[in-house]
Amino acid sequence: MSAGTLFRGATVWDGTGADAFAADVLVKNGRVARISKSRIAERDAETIDAGGATLMPGLVEGHAHLSFHKATRNTDLGDIPPEEHVLVTMHNAKTVLDAGFTSAYSAASAKLRLDVVIRNEINAGLIPGPRLRAAGPEITVTGGLGDETRQHQERSSFGMVADGVDAIVRATRVCIREGVDNVKINISGDDFVTPARGDLTVMSEAEVKAAVETAHSYRRRVSCHARATESVKRAVRCGVDVIYHCDAADEEALDMLEAAKDRIFVGPAIGLIYNSLYEADPWGFTHADACRLGLDKCLERSRSVYAELRRRGVRVLVGGDYGFAWVPQGTNARDIEHFVNLFGYGPSEALQCATRVGGEVMGMGHELGLVREGYVADLLLVDGDPVADVRLLQDKTNLHVIMQQGALYKNARGKTRAKRETVPA
Ligand SMILES: [Zn+2]
Repeated sequence: MSAGTLFRGATVWDGTGADAFAADVLVKNGRVARISKSRIAERDAETIDAGGATLMPGLVEGHAHLSFHKATRNTDLGDIPPEEHVLVTMHNAKTVLDAGFTSAYSAASAKLRLDVVIRNEINAGLIPGPRLRAAGPEITVTGGLGDETRQHQERSSFGMVADGVDAIVRATRVCIREGVDNVKINISGDDFVTPARGDLTVMSEAEVKAAVETAHSYRRRVSCHARATESVKRAVRCGVDVIYHCDAADEEALDMLEAAKDRIFVGPAIGLIYNSLYEADPWGFTHADACRLGLDKCLERSRSVYAELRRRGVRVLVGGDYGFAWVPQGTNARDIEHFVNLFGYGPSEALQCATRVGGEVMGMGHELGLVREGYVADLLLVDGDPVADVRLLQDKTNLHVIMQQGALYKNARGKTRAKRETVPA
């Protein structure tokens, strides 16, 4: 039994929404063993002098694509050979952990087994990366988001094309056979997809139902891409667990999401939309290009929909489709700022989406996402107060300690071992 790690004199922001408080926190055997507002005398623990820095839960990326890398178009991902793609995904996993994300809920892997092998290596302690719920490619219908093939040319990106109930059932089972934790389906199109635009619901109700029933029969989760309001309603009706985007949700769809709020999670994945509008110019994708695709309207719709989902208490995940060229891996914490600036979340609320709510979606039988006795010790020690300025988390030099399951992945503060290493005078 390890003597553990003691954070001495931390300011604990625990992820519940309560105000931060001064405390000592003892971590033992991968979990938070004790939180005390008075001094913990633990002679044998390695002690980190927190000096008032903020001890908070590790961040959870709720829409991760660890295998997406510097893509300017979807086919860029199909063009990466599998050998290179494993290494790229491995490097991205480290980059995301370095940015303070100790967990990631995948919203798709560009090739079937990329997330799976990286998850397995991370779990085995062989490579650094966030605790990962692995996804497969995005199961999509012919002509849907992720089908890049044309009559004259086979091309791939992150899609796995399946048409009809039988093919959807088989694609779902193949993903599960190969080890994914959550199956991704594309119910609506997207604004940059010809012919399936974002306002179109192209996967049939029977197909969605078949994917969900199949995945649930193996106790796997389903997440979906759903922009059009009908696609959101279809997802709720068919029992999808995580419903991404939802930007065109009408009043009826909002009511359905609210009625299902104890069961579902949603996520705007707004980072990609925001940066496509305002920061993609160096890649030759101008603001005017983005507006021609309707991304300005998508952003406006998202603002009103997520302000409303916040008001209705629906669980919203932080995560922004990072991995395209202008939303690089490792900048994921910007989404927390977007929740504040675009959707009207208070800083503490936005941080809870990135910690407590993310911990809930990760599930996995762990208690994750809070600094609480008995919870898994995925922790950050942050120089400064992220509730006063959520942007602090965007600069990894402010992340003095990154701890995963009680193990110090990063420690920029040094540690002392009380008593044991004291040299007699
Ligand atoms: Zn995505």
